[in-house]
Amino acid sequence: SGRITILGIPIDDVTEAEALERAHSFLQDGGWHQICTVNPEFIMEARRNPAFRAVLQAADLNTPDGFGVLVAARWQGTPLRGRVTGVELTLGLAQLAATHGYRMFLLGAAPGVAEAAAVVLRSRWPGLHIVGCYAGSPAAEYDEQQRQIIMQAQPHILLVAYGHPRQELWIARNQPFIKVPLAIGVGGTFDYLAG
Ligand code: UDP
Repeated sequence: SGRITILGIPIDDVTEAEALERAHSFLQDGGWHQICTVNPEFIMEARRNPAFRAVLQAADLNTPDGFGVLVAARWQGTPLRGRVTGVELTLGLAQLAATHGYRMFLLGAAPGVAEAAAVVLRSRWPGLHIVGCYAGSPAAEYDEQQRQIIMQAQPHILLVAYGHPRQELWIARNQPFIKVPLAIGVGGTFDYLAG
């Protein structure tokens, strides 16, 4: 599977199954990784926000999220095969985690929402090991406190729902300390799952 560029932002031409294969290899290679789900709003934000642009350019995997990304890719002659959204990746990662015993942590969204999303995920995969839910805050002054909470829970997979660009910046800023094998910004996914 190849990688294209739209306005300087790399996007991987992965299907959902391929994205999950990449995620699985990230979980097994001993390193720490970041996945971004790139929609048109990400690409526009990256044009005016150099820090966000740098994070997208350094991420290990950028999935095409949103029909507009597919349209732009086809328009410039580098078509992509399909979309891979935050909701799809969250469900796929939950399946992977339940199958292989990986621990999952849910950071972000309004108080109680991550817990409600966890209830939904556990009802679908009863063996799923969700080791923490924390609404928290994307402001840097809370980084240290949130790092402690996450490091004590020792997750393999960290889902961060602070909306873009804050969730991607939070992950890039904190991963050198927490070194979670796989961290991914998931936007409104917890709200969606909690219904
Ligand atoms: N959020 C949060 N703290 C904040 C700002 C946002 O927890 O300071 C959460 C919000 O409750 C929601 C998610 O971040 O669950 C943003 O979802 P949205 O669909 O807007 O994400 P985007 O499409 O902007 O990435």
